Amino acid sequence: MITIRHLSKTFGKNKVLKDINLEIKKGEVIVIIGPSGSGKSTLLRCLNLLEYPTSGTIEFENKKISSNLKNDEKRKVREKMGMVFQQFNLFPHFTVLENIRHAPMVVKGEKKSRATQKALSLLREVGLEDKKNAYPASLSGGQQQRIAIARSLAMDPEVMLFDEPTSALDPEMVEEVLQVMKKLAQTGMTMIVVTHEMGFARQVGNRVVFIDDGKVLENEKPDILFNHPQHARTKDFISKIL
Ligand code: ADP
Ligand code: MG
Repeated sequence: MITIRHLSKTFGKNKVLKDINLEIKKGEVIVIIGPSGSGKSTLLRCLNLLEYPTSGTIEFENKKISSNLKNDEKRKVREKMGMVFQQFNLFPHFTVLENIRHAPMVVKGEKKSRATQKALSLLREVGLEDKKNAYPASLSGGQQQRIAIARSLAMDPEVMLFDEPTSALDPEMVEEVLQVMKKLAQTGMTMIVVTHEMGFARQVGNRVVFIDDGKVLENEKPDILFNHPQHARTKDFISKIL
């Protein structure tokens, strides 16, 4: 579904991504781990066309995606790649229901009745149907992040990108968000998840990619990576976060 070849990204003199090669198949859950500043967010942002590679290529569904795409082609790529961030970024002046059905109506031109039905069904899936008329500020961080996931899913993405979705949450709320993500993985959604939640990586990840200083050092099944890491850097990183 996604093929990344020789991707490098430089900001000024700062080489942030260095010759990244990765392939993501439909239905796979790829967990990306690595120290802060190693380039994980930049990699996700390149997939979502929020940044463009300095060199190398990204193919999505056999089509090269780059800064050369026309604006409506870029918009289509972004629609197909849902993104959930550490900060939930819900619209504060919209209710939960309005938050979820907004983009499908405005961006995709869905009818209000259809967008509403879909929003309610997504709310049921994340266990928050009773909050449909609430405003984000009245919800806990965990609830807001579950709404943010539902809002992303409302666009019917083909891939979901998660950038440290539980890092801003109080510890007691992490699990409810991970549960929603686990359920989503079980539906066959293709997911790329940057997280420090090693339990999730082991249980749900098909592969774990360790990025250090802009390079992919490991790309393995979870047991192999956690039990037999190839690099001292990986061992060191894992021992620090476990
Ligand atoms: P991670 O998500 O692994 O913590 P990031 O991808 O956010 O790492 O950042 C990697 C490096 O790229 C950092 O040194 C950061 O300062 C730099 N960086 C990220 N985005 C920008 C930007 N828009 N302009 C300049 N430097 C950036
Ligand atoms: Mg980051």
